[in-house]
Amino acid sequence: MSDAPIFDAAAFRLTPAEAALSRQARAFGETTLAPRAAQWDRDAVFPMQNYRDMHAEGLLGVCIPAEDGGIGADFRGYCLAAAELGRYCGATALTWNMHVCSTLWTGALADTLEMDAATRAQHKTRRASHYARILGEGAIYAQPFSEGGAAAAGSVAFGTTARRVPGGFVINGKKIFASLAGSADYYGVLCTEQHGEAALSRRDTLYLAVPATAEGVSITGSWDPLGMRGTVSRDLVLQDVFVPEDAALMPAGLYFQAASRWPHMFMTLSPTYMGLAQAAYDFTVKYLRGEWPGMPPVKRRMYPTKQIAVAEMRVMLEQTKALWFQAISDARPDPSKEQVMRAWAAQYTVMENANAIAVKAVRTCGGQSMLKSLPLERIYRDSRCGSLMLPWTGELCIDRLGRAALYEQGETDD
Ligand SMILES: Cc1cc2nc3c(=O)[nH]c(=O)nc-3n(C[C@H](O)[C@H](O)[C@H](O)COP(=O)(O)OP(=O)(O)OC[C@H]3O[C@@H](n4cnc5c(N)ncnc54)[C@H](O)[C@@H]3O)c2cc1C
Repeated sequence: MSDAPIFDAAAFRLTPAEAALSRQARAFGETTLAPRAAQWDRDAVFPMQNYRDMHAEGLLGVCIPAEDGGIGADFRGYCLAAAELGRYCGATALTWNMHVCSTLWTGALADTLEMDAATRAQHKTRRASHYARILGEGAIYAQPFSEGGAAAAGSVAFGTTARRVPGGFVINGKKIFASLAGSADYYGVLCTEQHGEAALSRRDTLYLAVPATAEGVSITGSWDPLGMRGTVSRDLVLQDVFVPEDAALMPAGLYFQAASRWPHMFMTLSPTYMGLAQAAYDFTVKYLRGEWPGMPPVKRRMYPTKQIAVAEMRVMLEQTKALWFQAISDARPDPSKEQVMRAWAAQYTVMENANAIAVKAVRTCGGQSMLKSLPLERIYRDSRCGSLMLPWTGELCIDRLGRAALYEQGETDD
């Protein structure tokens, strides 16, 4: 293993478990993910072999509680490991996020939320069966919530509905950008429980695991995007799909409670882009030192403009790391307003700076650096996708920050 960690364990005072998991992720990323990353990107195919290898490494169960046989990482531990994977393959890290959320939200996060004893006991039994599939069979979970309307931004109820029927639910709706489409074994669908003719309410959000093989599930649309091509984020159509009661990944009402009380849960996409920011910087340093494997050892580091550009990239990287590390350390139920504002600022900073650093890297390294035989042009394209992702897009973070800075709860200008 040759790369230094993004977050040095001693300097950032990582716990021994965080340091070990980050080290494992870095070694896995460098040796297994990096050599394959170009192929998923070129063909826009899901990195299935990476998932088979992550299963063997225990990484599919990274956030499954230790009592259920997983690694038992918490939010911060997961984020630090995901950044190391994102450094070597953006599409694998981003899809890993979707999979991991089905265990993090139902595991460490749910354990900090309120439930009566009977509901908690039932939740633990149900999640254990999802966890057993992941650990035993290597089952892969996707996380489709986007619908092309305001629901994924958290403004209105999901238009995908679940109607209670004897023994379970019948689901109808369409999800766009369902990463892992066609490759996941289960789709963790966010939908709204329909109560007769009553208007749909966000309070009635359900989080249901729909088997890919269930009748009425289909994947539509093509996939040939700018970046994050290995995510294969096609559309998921659910037509009269029956799922049994125990498909519930969370008890009724718990997702609404989580979304209201645990805002950092929406930061889990950011580690991928923290890793991409580091990757763009690392590439530039090696390239200018004439050390990139396979390239002629031509050094460019003696020119002052190169030194200034790398210095500016380093400043942006350090700013990004410091803010992001503090924000992932803040994550908890019921954070203060300051902590939530910092989370928005961190999300915005990571998503924008990852691409800004990649842009500077291309300009600084020059023409040969953007050839498809090198990873920089992929990092450049992948890093552009981060700030587009709901619910915390770059724009929405700025909207919310501005409003929160100028208004206290309940204040208006009327
Ligand atoms: C590579 C990739 C993978 C993805 N994977 C998944 C996935 O696995 N699961 C999933 O659910 N989604 C996924 N998404 C979808 C993503 O989270 C967004 O839903 C999607 O990018 C939104 O695209 P849109 O064109 O519908 O944006 P729109 O909803 O039309 O929004 C366009 C822009 O308008 C702004 N905007 C949106 N809503 C509001 C609002 N209420 N107020 C103010 N401004 C607003 C935002 O800045 C947004 O960027 C993925 C997206 C990408 C690019």
